[in-house]
Amino acid sequence: MIVQNLSNENAFEEPMSSQIKIVWNQCLETIKAHPKVHEQSFVTWFKPIKLVDISDNKFILNVPSQFLYDWIEVHYPEIIRDAVKQIMGQSYELEYVVHNTPNSMHLNNIIQESELKNHIKTSQPDFDTKLNPKNIFKNFIEGDGNKFAKAAALAVAEAPGQTAFNPLVIYGGTGLGKTHLMQAIGNFALEQGKVDRVYYSTSEQFTSDFINSIQNNSISNFSSKYRSIDLLLIDDIQFFSNKGKTQEEFFHTFNSLHMAGKQIVLSSDRPPSELKDLQERLLSRFQWGLQVDIQPPDFETRIAILQQMAAQNKVEMSYEIIEYLASNITASIRELQGALIRLLAQASINGEDMTLELTKSIIQKIGKAKSEALTIENIIKTTSEYFNLQENLLLSKTRKKEIVIARQISMYLSKIYTNHTVKSIGLHFGGRDHTTVLYSVKMVEDQLEYDSRLAKDVKNIREKLDKMENNA
Ligand code: ADP
Ligand code: MG
Repeated sequence: MIVQNLSNENAFEEPMSSQIKIVWNQCLETIKAHPKVHEQSFVTWFKPIKLVDISDNKFILNVPSQFLYDWIEVHYPEIIRDAVKQIMGQSYELEYVVHNTPNSMHLNNIIQESELKNHIKTSQPDFDTKLNPKNIFKNFIEGDGNKFAKAAALAVAEAPGQTAFNPLVIYGGTGLGKTHLMQAIGNFALEQGKVDRVYYSTSEQFTSDFINSIQNNSISNFSSKYRSIDLLLIDDIQFFSNKGKTQEEFFHTFNSLHMAGKQIVLSSDRPPSELKDLQERLLSRFQWGLQVDIQPPDFETRIAILQQMAAQNKVEMSYEIIEYLASNITASIRELQGALIRLLAQASINGEDMTLELTKSIIQKIGKAKSEALTIENIIKTTSEYFNLQENLLLSKTRKKEIVIARQISMYLSKIYTNHTVKSIGLHFGGRDHTTVLYSVKMVEDQLEYDSRLAKDVKNIREKLDKMENNA
């Protein structure tokens, strides 16, 4: 199949000849009746396609976007071909023409310009969106692993509540860009004036808001706050597992927003169908919209991301170093960031040049740290010494704030410095559940950006751990 971008728009202004129209309508009817094509999918993916011409043995089809074409190619490769064959009694080659409407034609350019101009102006005066203004489309690098998710996110940001992608569910492993992408939707929709009220919340925040509202007898405030939102972004819905009451409240919030034509965007670390203990009725709501996954970045994307990070940090890095990092760190974008920051820190603390040697030694340390040099016990000991707390308090059930923080930091560091699974880390911390560890790691990661006190503590402890590691 051939896809081309057509600059001559007039070709499509002409009315289709009535014969072509009839043929195409019959094809569409056949597609609609196909058992694999649900009604919603038909409306979203097939109905917008137009037949522009039939020549020799070719059907020339006009699709409104590259995204739609890609989607059909991946998800419904044979359906159109089969329908054409059924109606025409013989096979035809399909040729697609991507016809960008003026609205979507320069989407990328429009986004870049407006984001550059306005990206600071992202919060409404009377309403804290909880969006991080740094998470915008402009600095979200596209690769094979995330391009569907990005295209879907753009479509939603352009017309919140008006596409079939409601809810939009973005899922994928940790550190691959889910939070970035969902916040980019919020930032974009807001600055483009597509919506008035955007609210970003994690599922944990939603849960604790809800619990607080029960305790303070203010459920109606809670409900009216969430139900007044035009674009609701809820991150990491896997943490709704096992929270029946909260799920119920979320279900009602979801329904009331959806019914009012408001947009909902959700993220999860796994496909919704694999979310344990999520009520069936919530799962079936998620089927109403679109679920897109994000896959780990390929080599080229990792290179591009590192180059962008280097530029953002205003450092010059040789391609050699970038390539070395991209070849050795493959799992997630967050880990790439971690390695780069470690390299920058090492170079600036010791006044060293950023050489390939230094890069190699850091990668080696990351690898080694992940094997034997540091144990969870070392980390607990170092952290509790730093905070002047008894080690066993970190393993106890105490919920005192300072202890909770020290405990979360040491769980976070255990995840970074050792090879232990979250399950094993939980066991080292007085037999805690792995979800508690996941939650702690995420809490610290999120807070590092906003809480300078915490960032300083983590940095100091890391310096001690790095020293131990180096001496090992
Ligand atoms: P997740 O929510 O999936 O765990 P995040 O959205 O928090 O991941 O991404 C981790 C880090 O990587 C963030 O700092 C984010 O800005 C960055 N990042 C993720 N994807 C991209 C991308 N495609 N281009 C540039 N930076 C990215
Ligand atoms: Mg996230």
